[in-house]
Amino acid sequence: MPLTSFDKESIKQSIVGKIQRYNGRTLADATDQQIYQAVASTIRDQIMQKWVAARERDKTYMGKRLYYLSVEFLMGRSLHCNALNLCSMENVREALLELGINWRHIIREEPEPGLGNGGLGRLAACFLDSLSSLEMPAMGCTIRYEYGLFRQRLVDGQQVEISDNWLENGNTWEVAAPEDTVEVRFDGHVDMVQENGRTNFRLRDYHSVMAVPYDMPIAGYDCDTVNTLRMWRARSPRDNMDFGAFSAGNYEKALEQDMAAVISKVLYPEDNHYEGKRLRLTQHYFFTSATLQYAVKDFKRRFGTRFNLLPEKMVVQINDTHPGLAIPELMRILMDEEGLGWDEAQAIVSRTIAYTNHTVLSEALEKWPEQMVKQLLPRIYMILEEMNRRLCARLWNAFPGDWDKIAKMAILAYDQVHMANLCVAMTFSTNGVSRLHGEILKNDTFRDYYSLMPEKFSYITNGITHRRWLMACNTHLRDLITEAIGDKWYKEPERLEELTPFAEDKAFCEKFAEIKRFNKQQFNRMLAMRQDMTAEEDFLFDSQCKRLHEYKRQLLNALHIHVLYNRIMDDPNYTMVPRVFIFGAKASPGYYKAKLIIRYILALSKLIDRSPRARRMLRIIFVENYDVSAAEAIIPATDLSEQLSTAGKEASGTGNMKFMMNGALTIGTMDGANVEIHEQVGADNIYIFGMRADTAAALEHEGGYNPMQIFENNAEIRRALTQMIDGTVLPDSPTAAGALS
Ligand SMILES: *Cc1c(COP(=O)(O)O)cnc(C)c1O
Repeated sequence: MPLTSFDKESIKQSIVGKIQRYNGRTLADATDQQIYQAVASTIRDQIMQKWVAARERDKTYMGKRLYYLSVEFLMGRSLHCNALNLCSMENVREALLELGINWRHIIREEPEPGLGNGGLGRLAACFLDSLSSLEMPAMGCTIRYEYGLFRQRLVDGQQVEISDNWLENGNTWEVAAPEDTVEVRFDGHVDMVQENGRTNFRLRDYHSVMAVPYDMPIAGYDCDTVNTLRMWRARSPRDNMDFGAFSAGNYEKALEQDMAAVISKVLYPEDNHYEGKRLRLTQHYFFTSATLQYAVKDFKRRFGTRFNLLPEKMVVQINDTHPGLAIPELMRILMDEEGLGWDEAQAIVSRTIAYTNHTVLSEALEKWPEQMVKQLLPRIYMILEEMNRRLCARLWNAFPGDWDKIAKMAILAYDQVHMANLCVAMTFSTNGVSRLHGEILKNDTFRDYYSLMPEKFSYITNGITHRRWLMACNTHLRDLITEAIGDKWYKEPERLEELTPFAEDKAFCEKFAEIKRFNKQQFNRMLAMRQDMTAEEDFLFDSQCKRLHEYKRQLLNALHIHVLYNRIMDDPNYTMVPRVFIFGAKASPGYYKAKLIIRYILALSKLIDRSPRARRMLRIIFVENYDVSAAEAIIPATDLSEQLSTAGKEASGTGNMKFMMNGALTIGTMDGANVEIHEQVGADNIYIFGMRADTAAALEHEGGYNPMQIFENNAEIRRALTQMIDGTVLPDSPTAAGALS
């Protein structure tokens, strides 16, 4: 029986009842996993009630709707945030207390859906929480990867990757919506047929893949809005295998069916990097096409075929270029399925889709071989060709004779499809994700486009949800803040500014320090359980947690630690504030240098551990498998946040915001959103060092960077680099770290 009230007693009854019905046992005999399932589905019952009502309201909603397309949503666990957003946390806590259930044990039973790599995917997840809490009608759309980002173990001083079978015990938070299944077509040939004086395009001999949606409710904080994260799963149009082909002995054809199942199998583990893999292109088109087919169907349910209303009634925001095929796909649907002409369709498409750029790193700019697109998506390719033809004609008018410039701006050039050019040219908005990044897009990356269509360009500095990243992950700090300024900041986070006077309040600062100590203990509980080690709670916690990347410069941090170690070893009187350096970082399995940097950090950690004197003031802890749950434990315990990216390379960063929000100080470069943070918190709270973006870029382009000069002039750096290759750091493979120096 569904619950209608969620007071403490009904929650208790529900949990006990579910364990009895689903597991056939009493609470006392239930495993933590079974109790988690019972608690989670009790919370889910409450969300479902709201969801039903929200869907009912949706039916008559005639306003605008947002589709947020992202190939990644790094959601993290749901139980705590859902209970928080439903304002049920107090009742749940009391109910569990009375049932003798340990809340912290139960929440860690939830598998973390790791359907993202890093910042880009986490941004999408934070946006969903905020969209619901701000009561904006939105749907997140992505792929339901059967295996999320790999799980990282550290074995013998190296990263080892383990597959992430997150669906093993089922996913309490999702509901299949098979009634919204759509067909997505790949390969084949395009026939042009004349009908009623019009040329129509028909795909034949294609392969079908069915896209089945799984929906996850996203409940807003203290409101009635429940939005949806729609995750598309690929399925063969026939169940399992083509038995006709199978019994005829045509195993190849029979197995072809399994191609469908491969599409939503696994998330690519590269962050800020791209390779032209066919399966990845298949994934992108798969979820983009499925989403747009659904979106147009929903538009028609509301407004019939009045497609001129479309830009008013729906907006498609694409998170980086990965869902950029939304542009030709919406053209295809409007022309081939709805019978619109090119000009009409293009006018609609270019007012409906908006693009967020996430990086200026050239290795991350998506380019697909034209041949691959032509073969996999023949009709889409035709549309891209025609778009490109018209675009180039326009560019020719603007820049007559300047073929170099036109080729640089074209959608198709040098046998490749340039996704960023497609997105800038064919959408109504291109935004950067911080002020500096926005400036670089205008002045550098897309300068020619900016000169032609300046009105399209803007920046929207990234943000994070303070519900997950403060209220849920740092409950004691939340309560201390509320004690000081009341609870209006739950709904109006700008009000956190009212805390400013408390920086001078001794009692407040003492309580803050106490909470930091408590959070360090909590961090240690997690670490003890996961890696059988603990950090010294009286040390300064100095954290750098983010994907491993050369531009993020974990190597710079490690070199600094290495130099500190040498100073301690050289000078018996050397002292410093005792400091534990915490790292959390996954390296893409194919990123050789990133993996070497992990080896170097782990080797340094061992080196330090071997010296009892160094150990008294210096430590390195590398937290395995950095994910949202790890972040929720590390960040509240941190004193100093490391944001060291080479200026101009980090588009925004959001890790920087999470640490600041939890009261850590920052050391970092003038990069990404560090610039805005500096403006907000002042130079006393963020220590800026290093080159500015313009200087770094000039150095890079003019080839003036000479690391050998630093090697020759700085004895401490020379010594550390030498120890990388003389066996001091890595005795087992002395030259391995040489590739880093
Ligand atoms: C916030 C977050 C990131 C992004 O961190 P940056 O420092 O901005 O790169 C990456 N991974 C996880 C798990 C996060 O929570």
